[in-house]
Amino acid sequence: MIATKGYAAQSPETDMAPWSFERREVGPHDVQFDILFCGVCHSDLHQIKNDWFPGIFPMVPGHEIVGRVIKVGDHVTRFKVGDIAGTGCMVDSCQVCENCKQDLEQYCLKGSTQTYNSYERDGITPTYGGYSNTIVVREEFVLHISDKLNLAAVAPLLCAGITTYSPLRHWKVGKGHKLAVLGLGGLGHMGVKFGVAFGAEVTVLSTSPKKEADALKLGAHQFIVTNDEAQLKAARGSFDFILDTVSAEHDYSMYLSLLKTDGTMICVGAPSKPAQVSVFSLLGGRKSLAGSGIGGIAETQEMLDYCAENNIVSDIEMIDIKDIQSAYDRMLKGDVRYRFVIDMATL
Ligand code: NAP
Ligand code: ZN
Repeated sequence: MIATKGYAAQSPETDMAPWSFERREVGPHDVQFDILFCGVCHSDLHQIKNDWFPGIFPMVPGHEIVGRVIKVGDHVTRFKVGDIAGTGCMVDSCQVCENCKQDLEQYCLKGSTQTYNSYERDGITPTYGGYSNTIVVREEFVLHISDKLNLAAVAPLLCAGITTYSPLRHWKVGKGHKLAVLGLGGLGHMGVKFGVAFGAEVTVLSTSPKKEADALKLGAHQFIVTNDEAQLKAARGSFDFILDTVSAEHDYSMYLSLLKTDGTMICVGAPSKPAQVSVFSLLGGRKSLAGSGIGGIAETQEMLDYCAENNIVSDIEMIDIKDIQSAYDRMLKGDVRYRFVIDMATL
């Protein structure tokens, strides 16, 4: 076993603190890499607080992981020692179901194995995430990372990046479309970058008036403060797509009113409580309310390559791991500019 240092929540009530644990030895198909940077996703906070479902504790969060390969198994062909590698939200899946066969491992019919707060395929060994010094992952779930980009700013692409890239590609959002990005946080700011890169006219819908200048700097064409009734009224019926990245309860029906006829609201934000949606907000205008979960491994590699070619990374604030708790506090207040990334050298 490999002795590993990390930061864990021992229960939903305790603060994050140092914790030592063991990872499996590098098997013939595994890649081990030492973690350089790990992004802080709002899902980390949802999960250590049991927002979605009772979690597996102690929990080592982190699924935006970038590092350097230090060991590969005998049968590994795609990685060698010294390569820069990444892992996102999944570390395994059944690999044989209809969805896995179509590169949609995130929708594995047997359930994909999450990077943390999940069990390995044996159903009993907990997985531990990227707030740690090293990780062992089967080769198929390790991504190649270009060393052309700032590696700390690449880390958030592994979740915030793919979670926004995938639905925009799936719904073919681009030139001629009006896209609204709801919530300007980690996912939202990547949604703006990709929406702009794909040629859409992008509007940010935000509760934070002070984010306007940033939104425009990110490339957005318009900014609307969502508690300004007049601005919202003026925007009714104007968007082809809304990419909803909000982490807390909000009024879905109200936002649906901002869509054009045949418009689609794509939910990627995952509040803990079920949403109340009036069916009238859908049938008037033949609207769709849809969801999307991260992206498959092939698409994640495609997104990383696209970002390397087009010089797209996340806007980050680097933190020491000991400051993770105050980063969570700021995240809860919507005060993230626009992704915290842990410098793992501080572990
Ligand atoms: P984040 O950085 O905290 O951003 C969320 C943003 O939502 C905030 O910055 C804020 O933006 C807005 N917001 C927060 N509370 C709000 C409220 N009560 N009403 C309206 N807007 C509010 O979080 P994130 O890391 O981007 O994650 C966002 C959500 O996506 C989380 O629920 C996360 O679990 C989920 N997620 C889903 C997937 C997936 O596969 N679908 C993957 C990753 C994450 P403004 O200040 O601009 O209003
Ligand atoms: Zn995430």
